[in-house]
Amino acid sequence: MSEKAIVVGGGLAGLSAAARLAHNGYDVTLLEKAPKLGGRAITIPLKGFNFNFGAHAIYARDKSILRKFEHEIGLNVDWKDFSPSKAFYDMGSYTTPMPATLEGLYRTKVLDSQNKLRFAYEVFKTMSSINRGEEGIPIGEYLQKETPQVRDLLLTIASSNFFTNEPERIPSTLFFDYYRRLFATQRAVSYIGGGWQAIVQAFADIIEKNGGRIITKEKVSRIDLDGKEITAIYGKEERVYTADHYLFCIPPKECSQLFAETPLQKYFEEYVRYSPTSVVVYDVGLSERISSPFTYIYQKAQKVFITDISYYDTTCVPEGGQLMQAVAYLNEEEIAQNKADEKVAIIESIYDKHFPGWRDRLVAKRVSKKATVQEIKCIDDQRLMPVKFHSLANAYFAGDWCQGKGQLSELSFTSAYEATRRIMKHPVEEEQD
Ligand SMILES: Cc1cc2nc3c(=O)[nH]c(=O)nc-3n(C[C@H](O)[C@H](O)[C@H](O)COP(=O)(O)OP(=O)(O)OC[C@H]3O[C@@H](n4cnc5c(N)ncnc54)[C@H](O)[C@@H]3O)c2cc1C
Repeated sequence: MSEKAIVVGGGLAGLSAAARLAHNGYDVTLLEKAPKLGGRAITIPLKGFNFNFGAHAIYARDKSILRKFEHEIGLNVDWKDFSPSKAFYDMGSYTTPMPATLEGLYRTKVLDSQNKLRFAYEVFKTMSSINRGEEGIPIGEYLQKETPQVRDLLLTIASSNFFTNEPERIPSTLFFDYYRRLFATQRAVSYIGGGWQAIVQAFADIIEKNGGRIITKEKVSRIDLDGKEITAIYGKEERVYTADHYLFCIPPKECSQLFAETPLQKYFEEYVRYSPTSVVVYDVGLSERISSPFTYIYQKAQKVFITDISYYDTTCVPEGGQLMQAVAYLNEEEIAQNKADEKVAIIESIYDKHFPGWRDRLVAKRVSKKATVQEIKCIDDQRLMPVKFHSLANAYFAGDWCQGKGQLSELSFTSAYEATRRIMKHPVEEEQD
């Protein structure tokens, strides 16, 4: 008899975990409250365009945990690698190449020649672990000793990778850990042919091919506990699900509700309090392409970027069309001051500047004034949730709010990988001994 595993949540964490368990012979049931799988990685079709609701790029895919999913469980992804030579900074009065490659570093105007050498040396020191950061010191403080140009560039790079307009608050140890991997990559950014729906479907196919069940429109609302063990979970109309292992790939506030009125609710309280990474998203679908030397432009002063998604994934547009995604970062203060409308106006002015004529060609747009990029933002004293609590023997947790490697979806995938590794390492028989 196969061991039974229930995975709650059909976002990237839940799907990748369920697929890995199903592939390894577990009897898997995945429960998702929404009608469609994908969570924040769903794709929304609109007037012939496929808008990625959230996620759009994978960073350092050659170093990503997705490689393991490709090799181990046969995940099939149509990678579309980004062209670094088409990435530019908008510095206000001029645009200049991003120093994403040696050629970019040579051509960029964000550094003078002395600082180019210094920046290259910092990259070398990061890659060879000479730069490691210091526990309790945020990167803004840690980089005080740097020249203003190099410090500014490192913080600008972090701003776009961490989706934040407060990059100086990133813990310095996390910063160097992240860039040790990213600077060593051959493929800094990649998109997905067929959009994120393709990767969602690829995981779902692996689950079903291996006999797993996927049940949508099933919100898990309650659990039964017997001491340290979960004995059952409940879906709609008190439907009961039982298993040997329970993997919760739902955000901390949802976990807290499930464990309400149990002695274990207190474990989640800390993580519910932390603030997420929030952004304004403004995607446009155009009837005709606007030609441009760049597929990615980062407006430094306003901290807004625009990506031409359809340059890489041609399946997301009707023939000849163009789909672009603009993102503006929001911090807590801006959220409290309702700055989202201002950000929308700023984004439109940046589209006007770099893609003149976009308004006349506009067919469909999608604006979200507060999208959650990462459930727990990696800043200052905020901490990510563990994938396992000692006091819960048969429960595991995964998602971009859990401990793992990288940021954003990489956290979802790495925490899912770690949670499933632990499940596979501890078969039920052993636990009962
Ligand atoms: C605008 C934007 C841009 C982004 N860009 C990138 C990017 O470029 N690169 C990148 O890597 N990442 C990016 N991300 C982040 C990425 O989308 C997320 O990290 C990832 O999708 C999170 O997946 P998850 O499974 O961890 O969580 P979620 O997607 O939040 O999944 C949780 C799932 O659980 C379900 N659920 C919740 N409660 C219950 C319940 N009680 N019962 C059953 N089901 C439940 C939810 O419906 C959901 O499907 C972006 C996100 C946004 C919003």
